[in-house]
Amino acid sequence: MFHTIRWRIAIPYILLIVILMAALAVLGARFVRRVYVMDLERQLVAEAHLASDALRAPLTQGASAEALDEIAHRWARLLEARVTLIASDGTVLGDSHENRAQMENHLNRPEVQQALAEGQGLSTRFSATLGYEMMYLAVPVEIEGQTVAIVRIARPLRQVEIHTARLGMNVIWVTLIGSVLAAILAVLIAERTVRPIRRLTHEAVRIAEGEFVAPTIPTVRDEIGQLGHAISRMANRLQERIEAVNREKRLLAMILSHMADGVMITDGDGKIQLINPAAERLFNTSAAQAVGRSFAQVVRHYELIDLWQQAMREGEEIEGVFEILRQGLFVRAIVTPLQEEAMEGALSIFQDLTRVRHLETVRRDFISNISHELRTPLASLKALVETLRDGAFEDPQAAQQFLQRMETEVEAMVQMVQELLDLARVESGQAPLHIAPVSVEALVTQAVERMRLQALRAGLRLDVVLPQGLPNVLADEERIHQVLMNLLHNAIKFTPSGGQVEVSARAEGEEVILSVRDTGVGISPRDLPRIFERFYRADRARSGGGTGLGLAIAKHIVQSHGGRIWAESVEGQGSVFSFSLPIFKG
Ligand code: ADP
Repeated sequence: MFHTIRWRIAIPYILLIVILMAALAVLGARFVRRVYVMDLERQLVAEAHLASDALRAPLTQGASAEALDEIAHRWARLLEARVTLIASDGTVLGDSHENRAQMENHLNRPEVQQALAEGQGLSTRFSATLGYEMMYLAVPVEIEGQTVAIVRIARPLRQVEIHTARLGMNVIWVTLIGSVLAAILAVLIAERTVRPIRRLTHEAVRIAEGEFVAPTIPTVRDEIGQLGHAISRMANRLQERIEAVNREKRLLAMILSHMADGVMITDGDGKIQLINPAAERLFNTSAAQAVGRSFAQVVRHYELIDLWQQAMREGEEIEGVFEILRQGLFVRAIVTPLQEEAMEGALSIFQDLTRVRHLETVRRDFISNISHELRTPLASLKALVETLRDGAFEDPQAAQQFLQRMETEVEAMVQMVQELLDLARVESGQAPLHIAPVSVEALVTQAVERMRLQALRAGLRLDVVLPQGLPNVLADEERIHQVLMNLLHNAIKFTPSGGQVEVSARAEGEEVILSVRDTGVGISPRDLPRIFERFYRADRARSGGGTGLGLAIAKHIVQSHGGRIWAESVEGQGSVFSFSLPIFKG
């Protein structure tokens, strides 16, 4: 309690008041006593002289001792003092307070001695008879130049003690009141001084706790006001700094979390300090699990660990490409040791090369597929040409047959090249779509009518099931016609005679789903996921002259419309091919 500013101000004041009052009391008591003593002395002198004068007559008339004692008593009553009459030889003639007969000779009393010598004697001493301090004043009584007696008047000094005690009490009271007032004053002053400090302390605590609401600074103009402004400036600067750091942190975190490359930072002990989402996915972990664990525990790939250890050992950046078999991934890892003061450890970056590798493989496969697909018709063309040259064309009938077969091969090749071109165009986005609202019914009817003859020839029933009031779709009519034709063509091709092909459409949410259903051979679950790939043919023997490109083209066209395409099938019972198109909301 006494450590507060309030008491630090109040206590010196109170001490000052107590010391001043004590000094005042001591000096005051002394002064009061001196004034009183002087006053008493003056009074005694006057009274003694008066008494000396009055005693001359009875003494001249030879008054008896009883008469003198009586006088002493009377005067004492009048003066309210002790009166003693002493003969010149020291014998006590009368005394107002004691029995004169029992009193000793008073010649040796200092006041008597002094009175005889100097004409007036004064003495202040403790009276053993009375038990308190008395002031004695003696004056000789002279008759015709002869000292015949001495009059002594005495008064107690007790009065002065009473006065001093009263003064002391007063001083104590004043001191008490003064101290209380000083304490109150100190509390008020301290309160005024401390209030802004308390506010500042509160603000400073808030700032320390990271709460950055603009600090309310006391508006006083004194040193505390200046301190307040300094704290406010400091808080603002701190806030700016923290905001800048946070901004950078957020930016960095955003970059790290959106980066396709995995990033990992390890400290000097090889413990992971930071891991971004790409790295989490790559190593099948989470930041919560990985941070604080060792690089080896998280990565669990001995070649990568080797690379990291080598980089740490040599203190140089090292990179390598690895296959992470468990996830079928190819990863390029770059480990850079960090030897900065603030950060010791290593930065590891992991680039997922799987897609690049996959694209390379796809391209390789594509080229080998095309070569393979072209080799068969070209080989048979070559054989036909050779047979013709070797004399077959001399037989007009055989020549005619050969030429027809040649034409078929050439047509197959032309179709394949045409489809390849289509695919390339759709894939590269070079041929822009002419999107417009199109009636589903028109789309379906047009395609079905074109395929009706072919279905009839194959001995199939071709049905259309369309609900009333189907909304229009947003589509490039020509392209979607091509998709429907491809699907119908396949359905007819893979359905044995006597079967059924049905085209239907339904609205679902924001889309219209178009389906081509057949009762044909179906697709095995093994092939089903792959039939939309280029050149993929489930059963090469049964697929006839197909190129394996039709569904790939259909998929690209549907996807470029923002739709999806999928197939469901039960082997031996038939297949359903469906695709979606966005509804036109006009
Ligand atoms: P293709 O020109 O060979 O028909 P597609 O890309 O159109 O090429 O089809 C790829 C493969 O998907 C076909 O070879 C066939 O095995 C299978 N397929 C497509 N449609 C059907 C269907 N309606 N019924 C059974 N199998 C189908």
